[in-house]
Amino acid sequence: MISESSAESAAIESSKLPESPKSTQSAESISRSDRSNQSIWHDRAYAPPVAAYLHIPFCRRRCFYCDFPISVIGDRRDGSNSLGVQTYVDQLCREIAATPSQGRSLETVFFGGGTPSLLTAAQIVRLLEALDRQFGIAATAEISIEMDPGTFDRAKLETIAAAGVNRISVGVQTFEDRLLQAIGRSHTADEIETAIALLQSGIIDNFSLDLMAGLPHQTADDWERTLDRAIAIAPPHLSYYDLIVEPGTVFDRYYQPGAAPLPTEAAAAEMYRHAADRLTAAGYDHYEISNYAQPDRACRHNLTYWHNATYYGLGLGATSYVNGQRVARPRRRDAYADWLDRYVESGGVLEAEAVTAIDLALESVMLGLRTAVGIDRDLWRSELRQLAGVAAIVRVDRVVDQYERAGAIAVETDSTRLRLTDPEGFLRSNSVLSDLFNAIEGDES
Ligand code: SF4
Repeated sequence: MISESSAESAAIESSKLPESPKSTQSAESISRSDRSNQSIWHDRAYAPPVAAYLHIPFCRRRCFYCDFPISVIGDRRDGSNSLGVQTYVDQLCREIAATPSQGRSLETVFFGGGTPSLLTAAQIVRLLEALDRQFGIAATAEISIEMDPGTFDRAKLETIAAAGVNRISVGVQTFEDRLLQAIGRSHTADEIETAIALLQSGIIDNFSLDLMAGLPHQTADDWERTLDRAIAIAPPHLSYYDLIVEPGTVFDRYYQPGAAPLPTEAAAAEMYRHAADRLTAAGYDHYEISNYAQPDRACRHNLTYWHNATYYGLGLGATSYVNGQRVARPRRRDAYADWLDRYVESGGVLEAEAVTAIDLALESVMLGLRTAVGIDRDLWRSELRQLAGVAAIVRVDRVVDQYERAGAIAVETDSTRLRLTDPEGFLRSNSVLSDLFNAIEGDES
């Protein structure tokens, strides 16, 4: 889940970032440079993918805050007796088989959803075999799957571990039953503890917990208890997201962002700061706005996105980024089935416009600034000078100086790296990026 932002609205600012401006709005120098395609980001955009994302769009029920493309399949433990799930796995295997390999083996695979753990172990193994046949999976690949408490047991874990799955992301959100019910989750606090005990038994010891803050009726004490429990479990990785009230969701009908029973923006920001303090003190590296990891346990698959590298995206609603083209698949089952027929008939041809050089530069900065290491300032300025001209650099430098004085941006003195500070810069990421993009376009106020 990704969040929204505005200055002190902090935690909320930590996730959903502004869209990059389109090159059509930019100066003539940008179009000229687009044709030259000299950017280092261009090389990255056309490199053969080594990552694959598979979307598994099934959940036991729809959480009250969720606008993801999913089908609700009820309270069965897995997809073994659902024709809809079996048909979808068949479709996904067809899409994989129709997708041209770009020549390199996969180094990361991520089953996301939805609730991928609703698949049977045999279905997960079948999909991995399909990926291996089509692209190859490297022996050292990170293979992650999202699993919700109450949807897996020891036998399923053992079977998928034997097939190569070596990382689990558990959708905990909160350890308190009253809050789980308030957000419409289908699992209980007891099921979370059972799931954690299974993971700690060592079948797959690389696991991550997903937590959420900014929940209705959630107090600072609730959040403290959530952090206490998470730190006591000591997972190798933690992700932390703020609730956002998305249009069309149940919460959209009942709640106003920042108004009771949701925490105020200031309270949500304080939760973000407090999590950063507690988790960092517990030895976690806050390596990305929403992600913490013990040493060497950062999620390799997600780093693909932050580095703006290419990846195969497979399944309903998934976006792929291959050959400089981002292609989003339809979010409805019937439309996806039609799209898949056309895709297979065409021999795996995707029709989309390639991203432009200026969009690549902006996206790379937008994504790079989400990480603790930030971006190479000198490299970015030099690319930007070619793409948008010297006047844009002057405007951008003014914005950087302004946020550096405010403590939101740090420019390293022993290197040329520019990064957002933790937590204040991360909290204001949306504002920083909006101002940077406006400066590039010449809309600086
Ligand atoms: S489990 Fe995740 S994808 Fe499924 S309904 Fe809940 S928030 Fe949405």
